[in-house]
Formats: sequence, C-alpha cells, structure tokens
Amino acid sequence: MRRKLFAANWKMNLTPVEGRALIAALRAILDPRAAQLARDRDVIVAPAFPVLAAAAQALAGASIALGAQNMHFEEKGAFTGEVSAAMLRAFGVTYVIVGHSERRQLFLESDELVGKRAAAVAAARFVPILCVGETADERDRGRTLEVVMRQLQAGLAGISTEQARRVVIAYEPVWAIGTGRTATPEQAATVHGALREALRDRFGATTADALPILYGGSVTPENVDSLLAKPDIDGALVGGASLKADSFARIATSGLA
Ligand code: PEP
Repeated sequence: MRRKLFAANWKMNLTPVEGRALIAALRAILDPRAAQLARDRDVIVAPAFPVLAAAAQALAGASIALGAQNMHFEEKGAFTGEVSAAMLRAFGVTYVIVGHSERRQLFLESDELVGKRAAAVAAARFVPILCVGETADERDRGRTLEVVMRQLQAGLAGISTEQARRVVIAYEPVWAIGTGRTATPEQAATVHGALREALRDRFGATTADALPILYGGSVTPENVDSLLAKPDIDGALVGGASLKADSFARIATSGLA
C-alpha cells in the first residue's frame, strides 16, 4: 500500500517564535498518535528558510519531518537569495518543494528551471515534492492535462527511475490555491489518474504505483476526507489550513479512527 503524506506549506508566514509555538501545538495533538500515524503516513512542515532552525529545534524527537520551500541546483556561488542543499541539510531538511505555482507565477520559474531544481534535490537525496497545476484560464480552455503533463515531464527530466522511488508529486490547480475554491474530488481524481498513467509510462508500474500524488488547493478539515477517498489521492499539500495546529492535525489524521 502507498504511504500517505501530509505537508504543511507555511509559505512566507510565521516568525521563528511563531513557528516554534505552532509546532508545539501540533505536537501536543500528533505526538500521542505517532505510532498510529507512522503505520501509513508521513507528516512534514515546510517553514520559510529563516524559520528552519527554530522549527528543527521544536521538532526534536518528533516523527514530523522538516521540509523546505525551494532549493537551488548549484552547490554554492553567486546566487543571491537562493539556498543550497548543504545549507538545508544542516537543518535536517529531508523534503523540498519545487515548482510551487507561486514560484512559477510570481517569480517566473520556468519548467526547465523547476526540472533543474528537482534533479538537484533528488541528487542531494532529499525527497522533491514536485508541484504541477493549471491556471483557471488553462482549465477553461480544456488544456489542463496538456499543462500538467508538460510540467510533469519537464520537472522529472533529470530524475532516474532509481531516484523516482523517493519522489512526491503534488497536483495543485492554481485557481484553487488560497482561494477557498477546492477542486471537486472528481476533478482532482481525473488529473491524479492521468498523472499516475504518465508516471507508469516513465518509470514503470512498480515505481509509479508506490509514488504519492498529493492534492493541494484550499484543503480544509471539511473537504479532506472526500478528496482522500479517491484512490489516486495520497495526501495533501496544505497552505492556509496548515497555519492552525488543530486544522492541520485534523487534515493529517484524515481516515484514522
Ligand atoms: C499551497 O500553498 O500549496 C496551498 C495549496 O495553499 P492553500 O491550501 O492555502 O490553498
């Protein structure tokens, strides 16, 4: 059975003090259920870079893993504003989000750049969480699958079949991110099914069938269960609702008794 994954993307929110408090509140709910969670799922938080140190300290001894929101593909050098694999490793980061739609839309990250980042993340032995998703306009024009397939192929261009065993895909329709407008479980399932097929073509069924495909876009405690009921939806990448401990804990425990 595929493992589920629930990832909190804090984006550009929370100072180190606030991040520490949120992790403490989350741990108060999730730590007592750590053994139950560990059976079928992983939970991660991805703070902004300056909050990684405080988050790492607050997570000491917890089964919640630490993620980063981006990473540069070069080892070091004149890349102002960027961070390297070695810097992230120093904080105990194990997952890195790449190709988030806010990076693509607001910071003009191209498919090619996202592919280079994903390849470097995998080469550094972190787990890349590769985000793909169409805009409202692209969906209205019937181009959803064309767009997500292009992003998927480019994002995975530098990833070998061996490395693909430690890759996560997140389908995040741009029109659903931070808007309160969630994709219906059926809309999401259609795209997840197509992504799974493309992954089988690329890496073979054994690898593709073990790889988690998350849904992201206004996931809440109220809608998570119906999304997770679809067979190819293996967890959630959560923005807004991850900033409150009780909401994110409810999402991360979806389906558990
Ligand atoms: C995200 O940041 O990846 C996201 C899905 O945000 P939200 O849950 O706020 O829509």
